[in-house]
Amino acid sequence: MTFELVVRGGTVVTATGRQRADVYVEDGRVAAILDPDSPESADETIDADGRFVLPGMVDTHVHLMEPGDSTREDFPTGTRAAARQGVTTIVEHTHGWPLTSAGRFEEKWHHLRDRSYVDYALAAHAFPEHAGEIRSLWEAGVTFFKIFTCTTHGIPAVTAEMLLEIFEELASLDAACLVHCEDDVMTARNERRLKAEGRIDPGVIPEWRSREAELVAVGSTALLAKVTGVRATVAHASSADVVDLIQRERAAGSPIVAETCPQYLYLHESEIHNHGPFRKFTPPARIRSAEDEDRMWNAFNDGSISHLSTDHAPSTEAQKREGTIWECHFGLPGLDTTVPLMVDAALSGRTTLERLVEAYAQQPAEQYRLRGKGRVEVGYDADLVILDPQATWQITNEAVVSRAGWTPFAGRDVQGRVESVLLRGHPIEDGAPPRGRFMPGPGG
Ligand SMILES: [Zn+2]
Repeated sequence: MTFELVVRGGTVVTATGRQRADVYVEDGRVAAILDPDSPESADETIDADGRFVLPGMVDTHVHLMEPGDSTREDFPTGTRAAARQGVTTIVEHTHGWPLTSAGRFEEKWHHLRDRSYVDYALAAHAFPEHAGEIRSLWEAGVTFFKIFTCTTHGIPAVTAEMLLEIFEELASLDAACLVHCEDDVMTARNERRLKAEGRIDPGVIPEWRSREAELVAVGSTALLAKVTGVRATVAHASSADVVDLIQRERAAGSPIVAETCPQYLYLHESEIHNHGPFRKFTPPARIRSAEDEDRMWNAFNDGSISHLSTDHAPSTEAQKREGTIWECHFGLPGLDTTVPLMVDAALSGRTTLERLVEAYAQQPAEQYRLRGKGRVEVGYDADLVILDPQATWQITNEAVVSRAGWTPFAGRDVQGRVESVLLRGHPIEDGAPPRGRFMPGPGG
């Protein structure tokens, strides 16, 4: 038979291994995976000889600020950055314009039509005063609910008694959530103390957003997840101590899982002193030693960390410099650099391409039930990344596609380059119109 497209001669990487194979595509899906030089034909051929073929990555923690402060980022720019580096599905939520009702969800859904280069789903915010909207948001088609245990980015804190109620509601719907874990009382107390001392140096960030505050919130979140059975993810687990705590709770029956981001694998706590606002994100970087770094990579490699995300939350350089260290924006851009950093880590032996595929495609797609995503397998969407493992290049601010225009990883030399990216069988190319589709959540 004749297929629409074949990606020929590449080495296909899955979570469990790799093999040379030809990937045939029909109607936007993978239709067959056959031995190289199989007799089947196709109307179009993409030569992948000497290259790796990976599933398009699935980033479930992304902030594209639209609607909202689109001077920081917007969907066309943010999803172009994603597509350029092999991320073909995102789940987006914006703190400045949170989805707190089905009406707001509809509004955002309309607004985003024809503005995404990658397939996208949306997350809502579960606010204390909007807890009654959870069911209607779920039925409208959101993919998960974001919860903050501390006041951050103007988002009100969900304290333990409210968290229990929200978890019960989510569990009754079998809906997933992503919990930003920092204890509100502890961070507020740290803030008062540091401000009373007149501190405005960048070193306030790790003291304000302390390790203890994160651990306390992770502990109570894991406990309430066990009590209610809710499918909860701890957002951006920042250290191996946090991951160890989550593992202990999982061993005790909590369904909680850990997400982390490259900043917690690569950036050191001390960088805040030299880079100030350009290392202001929360929880902050925790690595202090080579041992800390090894423990985090081991947790990533052995699966104690369930999945990877960017927590892409960009601001431009000028925006980052606005106000004191207390006032300037939290957050880092990440969509431009996550795949390059992790591919480099895989090619240099710190992790493997198989683990990258599992943690940044297959696992997040499963956790959030993003149907057809996260695998190169017959029946799955033909979202494919073709990767040249020989190429070497340097990450630079100039190459950043995100509106941020900078990256904390500038100057790093990396091996391996994303050569081309297919979304449901179509190459995502500069100048082509956005083809990304909205993906309704499991309750929609
Ligand atoms: Zn975030």
